[in-house]
Amino acid sequence: MELTNIKGLGLTTTKYLNELGIKTVQDLVEYYPFRYEIIENTDINNLKDGDKITIGGLVESLPNVFHFNRKLNKMTFRLNNGSFITNIVIFNRAFLKSKLNIQTPITVIGKYDQKHNTITASDIKFGLINKPLIEPVYHSSFKINSAKISKIINSALNQITIQNTLPEKIIQKYNFMDKNEAIKIAHNPKEKNKLILALNTLKYEELFIFMLKINNLKTAKKKDNGLARKVPYDKIENFIEKLPFKLTKDQITAIQDIYDDLTGNKRMNRLLQGDVGSGKTIISFISLYINYLAGYQGALMAPTEILASQHYQNCIKLFPNLNVILLTGKLKNKEKKEAKALIEEGKANIIIGTHALISEDVKYKNLGLVITDEQHRFGVNQRGNLKNKGKTPDILYMSATPIPRTYALTLYGDMDISSIKTMPGGRKPVKTYVKTNKEIKDVLYMMLKQIKEHHQIYVIAPLIEQSDKIDLENIYKLEENMQKAFGKICKIGIMHGKMKDQEKEEIMEKFKQNQIQILISTTVIEVGIDVPNATMIVIFDSYRFGLSALHQLRGRVGRSNLESTCILISDKETKRLEVLTKTNDGFKVSEEDFKLRGSGDIFGIRQSGDMNFKLADIKNDYDLLLKAKEDSINFLKNSKEDLEKYQYIKKQISQTTNLD
Ligand code: ADP
Ligand code: MG
Repeated sequence: MELTNIKGLGLTTTKYLNELGIKTVQDLVEYYPFRYEIIENTDINNLKDGDKITIGGLVESLPNVFHFNRKLNKMTFRLNNGSFITNIVIFNRAFLKSKLNIQTPITVIGKYDQKHNTITASDIKFGLINKPLIEPVYHSSFKINSAKISKIINSALNQITIQNTLPEKIIQKYNFMDKNEAIKIAHNPKEKNKLILALNTLKYEELFIFMLKINNLKTAKKKDNGLARKVPYDKIENFIEKLPFKLTKDQITAIQDIYDDLTGNKRMNRLLQGDVGSGKTIISFISLYINYLAGYQGALMAPTEILASQHYQNCIKLFPNLNVILLTGKLKNKEKKEAKALIEEGKANIIIGTHALISEDVKYKNLGLVITDEQHRFGVNQRGNLKNKGKTPDILYMSATPIPRTYALTLYGDMDISSIKTMPGGRKPVKTYVKTNKEIKDVLYMMLKQIKEHHQIYVIAPLIEQSDKIDLENIYKLEENMQKAFGKICKIGIMHGKMKDQEKEEIMEKFKQNQIQILISTTVIEVGIDVPNATMIVIFDSYRFGLSALHQLRGRVGRSNLESTCILISDKETKRLEVLTKTNDGFKVSEEDFKLRGSGDIFGIRQSGDMNFKLADIKNDYDLLLKAKEDSINFLKNSKEDLEKYQYIKKQISQTTNLD
């Protein structure tokens, strides 16, 4: 349902909601609070200067308002809380004046200044609080605040009824709520216990659907028969010998695993896990080569245009005699048409691209192998779509995101796993330092040293534009500062998510060619970029990232035998960041991340991918996940006949495999 169907929602507000990623009514009602604020009266007997305070009382004196200008104002009045009288100061709430009559019961939330017997209030609520209030807090923007979002959601919830999607049996088994009620409570909690039940109901549903998809993929797999290729291993060995570097032991083992799969009867469904920089790309190329020698087409899918084109460039260099083509969303229509024709006629041997590769109108002549790079960036739905492209193509997933074993078994339980644990020879671990903003001079000095040695540097900033609310480094300000420091001795480029793909690629290409020495960027460079001459990465406000995300960013350097450095600049959470100074092992980092923050961050910065849950968290809700796993297996075993009853579930599963 469209947002325009909600009564009372204007065009401007709709636009603001769209900017928050809320496009449909479903998006709106599933825009859950990211936290809840508990408001209860403060024990005033132990009050100290500077304490946060929530206090109820009656208005003792009529408010005075002072206007600084059209927008800024200050209101003062006195509050009688039954034991004593305090002064209240609140800014920019002059509009409340008419409601604050003498003896009006209100609750004031703010900070207590003992010396002046004054509370500087951040909020005023009408009425007294008898039991704790739970207030939802939403991710908001400057244009639309959390309270307004709450209001809109509640108005929408009053206009619609949400149907249950979980099977009745399961709702009864756990005494879950009806979905409609659960969603209402999640947005409008009154009691803690009910809120927990509501959230568990909703989390469980996410996990159940997710596990259904995974388990469905698993059962589908058992039925498949693979393509048994005949390719002599000598040919592969010869090819490997001619490579400019010697493959590591783990790389060879992975290639052998894949070779066995590709030449065996069973259909391959393998995850290649290896830390950033461990050399997964070459393995994918060799796999494509094995597949090609047997006469099949192969496809390699990457999550971004930049990465796809990087793979394409490398691939044509490696296989000058094969017909390698690039297919991405941004090709011109004519080019797309040509590419599709080559694919359909079987003239394209290796096809590299973004998810354009799996769009419906791409028809492969004889697709034998499909590889996805940075698998965790893709959804579980795409896992299915890819499989359905050829008759029974073999599948290789690659991921740099190491997840702890127990979780891997649950989430990737349908796959065989090859791991690359050692880095290519000669690699030195990236030296990592945590620095505060005060130490910026040291950092600039370290940068200067790298530039003098003709090395390149990444500088990362979390935001694009200056926001007045949270003062974060942003790339434009950084660019200005970097220009001042280094503008005379080197070229500086910037890149961010709001730039057009083509612009991004041009900048990236210049960086690769060493025409730019310092690349200032948001996290768009995070995925897979390979510029061995870049030896330093400086990450501002690094506390804003999870450790795994930082580890991935750090993986942009240390890609040659040059010594590399990663500098994490932060004034906060430096202890957490110290973990990265002690280890370069992605598995250890992810374990720590799990311990500290749950799974939310483990898959890096972007919000998409396999485990893109709105509420659930695979670590914190692991028990729920295990239940969902078991239930989903039973459901698939026993209830497939009455799947008709569960149209929603049917639709969800069919996104991963063709049921018919
Ligand atoms: P990732 O596993 O993160 O995708 P890449 O495949 O991009 O890593 O490899 C990182 C860099 O290491 C590339 O420049 C690649 O050519 C190089 N490389 C891969 N394997 C080896 C090896 N065995 N010895 C030396 N360099 C290697
Ligand atoms: Mg890679």
